Amino acid sequence: MNKASLKQLEVWFVTGSQHLYGPKTLEQVKLNSTAIANAFDTSIHIPVRVVFKPVVKTPDEITELCKAANNQPGCIGLICWMHTFSPAKMWIAGLLSLQKPFVHLHTQFNRDLPWDGIDMDFMNLNQSAHGDREFGFIGSRLRIQRKVVVGHWQEESVQQKIGLWTRAAAGWNELRHLKVARWGDNMREVAVTEGDKVEAQIKLGVSVNGYGIGDLVKLVNQIPEVEINQLVEAIESKYEMAASLKKRGANHGSLRESARIELGMRAFLEEGGFMAFTTTFEDLHGLVQLPGFAVQRLMADGYGFGAEGDWKTAALVRAMKVMASGLTGGTSFMEDYTYHLSPSGAKVLGAHMLEVCESIARESPRVEIHPLGIGGKADPIRSIFTVKPGPALNASLIDMGNRFRLIVNEIEVVPLDAPMPKLPVASALWIPKPNLEIGAGAWILAGGAHHTSFSQAVPAEVLEDFAEMAGIEYLIIDDSTNISAFKKELRWNDLYYHLSIGI
Ligand code: MN
Repeated sequence: MNKASLKQLEVWFVTGSQHLYGPKTLEQVKLNSTAIANAFDTSIHIPVRVVFKPVVKTPDEITELCKAANNQPGCIGLICWMHTFSPAKMWIAGLLSLQKPFVHLHTQFNRDLPWDGIDMDFMNLNQSAHGDREFGFIGSRLRIQRKVVVGHWQEESVQQKIGLWTRAAAGWNELRHLKVARWGDNMREVAVTEGDKVEAQIKLGVSVNGYGIGDLVKLVNQIPEVEINQLVEAIESKYEMAASLKKRGANHGSLRESARIELGMRAFLEEGGFMAFTTTFEDLHGLVQLPGFAVQRLMADGYGFGAEGDWKTAALVRAMKVMASGLTGGTSFMEDYTYHLSPSGAKVLGAHMLEVCESIARESPRVEIHPLGIGGKADPIRSIFTVKPGPALNASLIDMGNRFRLIVNEIEVVPLDAPMPKLPVASALWIPKPNLEIGAGAWILAGGAHHTSFSQAVPAEVLEDFAEMAGIEYLIIDDSTNISAFKKELRWNDLYYHLSIGI
C-alpha cells in the first residue's frame, strides 16, 4: 500500500443483543443492522469497507467475534452498537481479548418516536438508549479508551465522525506494521528527535532499525545509466527547472546524481518493505549530495520521512499520509523555521533545509540547485514551492521518558505578505491557533519538537482518535487553549500517566 487505498481495509459492524427477545425480534435486529452497515459501507464519508457481522447474543459469540477480528489482517476495528439490551458481563472476555480498536456507535434505527403507534413492541426493539449505556459501563469499567459517536445513523455528521475514526484506525493499523529505515543516526546532541525505539515497538508497533549509509551508497552506485536517463527525462517533462539543470546545462550532472540517489533509495526501501525513512546530513559518506529532491519525491509517493534521524516524525508522517488517503490536501515533514514577529500579526515560516513534501505544493514545484551551508557536500537539488492558504495542523510525537505524547496545534496557512524570491526552499507561512503567543507558548511548555508532521488533510479529531487507540497522551492546542489551563493539564497528565503505568 504505497499511496494508500483505504478500500482494502474493513471495519466490522457488530450489533449486540441477547436471546431474551425471541427469534422474531432478533430477525428484525439483523435486518436493521444490515441496513445501517450497508449505508455506512456506501457512505462517501467512510473511506473503508464496512462489513456486517451476525448479531452477537452470547458471551461465546462475542469472544469468538473479537478473536476473529484479531486474526483478520484486513480488519482494522469494530463499530459496536447495542440495538437491544446486551448484558455487558457477556462482553468482558471479548473486549479483554480484542486487539483492534472499536468505536461505540450510539444510535437508534428509528429516528423518530412513532407517536401514534408506539407500543411495547417498539420499545423492546429500540433499546439502545439504555442498552448502549450498559455497554458503555463495561468499556469504562475496563478502562478502554474509545470514541463514542452519538446521533441518528443517517445523519451526515454521524457518518463523518465514524469516517474520521476509520481514518485513525487505518493510521493505527499502518503503524502496527510499519518499518522505518534510518540511514545514519540522530543529529549529534539533539534531544527531541531521540527516544526509546524498543518502547515504540511495544507501544506503537513500529519497528525502527539503523542501516549504514554504505549499504545505501552501494545500491545508488549500482543504478544503471539507462534507468537514470529515464528518470531524468520524466523529471524534465514534469517540472519547470533552472536552466543550468537542463541537458547540457552546467549543473545537469547534479540532477542526474539526484536521480541516481532517488533510484537507490527507492530500491533500498522497496527491497526492505520500508514505508518510512530518515536521513542525516552528518552521515553522508559516499553520497555526493544531501538527498533533498529525492526525499521530496519519495514523500509525495507516500513515504514517511524525518530529517536528522527523526524516526518518530518519519513514522508519524507515514501514518498521517495513510489517514489522509483520498482527502484534499497533502501531508509533509515540516519544521518551524523562522518568525515574522510583526505587531500586526505574528507568523511562522515553516520549511526545512530541503525536504518538504510536494503533496502540499500550491503551484507546480520548480526544481533548482543551490549551495547548502552545512554538511560539506555538493550543492543539492530541491524543488521549491509555496503552500495554499487554509486550515492545517502540525503534529509532534515526543518521548517523555515514561510515555509517548502527541501534541497537535491547529494552524491557519496564510498568503505571503510579499514574494520571497531569494528563498531557495519550499515553505509554508502560517499563524498558529489561537495565536503565536499562546500557540508557541503552549507547544514549548508541552515539549513539542521543532520537527512536525504538517497536514492540510487530517483533522485534529482523527489524531485524537488515533492517540486513544495507541493509548498515548494527546494534547491539542487550538482556539480554546488557555495557558494557565494548559499548564494544569500537563501536571494532571503527568500524574495520570505515572499512576496508570503502575510498576
Ligand atoms: Mn531539522
